[in-house]
Amino acid sequence: MNMRIEPRKTTDRGGYLMLPLKKNVPQPKDETWALVICPKCGCECWDRPLPEGFTEEMFSGKLCTMCALKENLRNGG
Ligand SMILES: [Zn+2]
Repeated sequence: MNMRIEPRKTTDRGGYLMLPLKKNVPQPKDETWALVICPKCGCECWDRPLPEGFTEEMFSGKLCTMCALKENLRNGG
């Protein structure tokens, strides 16, 4: 399944940070990726440093890709 994610702007607020699922991305891209557990579904996913200009306060939280997509859809993006 290929999904195109639009680049996020630094002015955007809310929404969930997407953590790539380990089952989709078995190997971390580099040593900055940390294996964490999705707080919603409990599956293993990768936590990554935020890009320049972004802070965690800009987001509603962090969830695995699937949970984040569901939550973002439910909240209208
Ligand atoms: Zn999840």
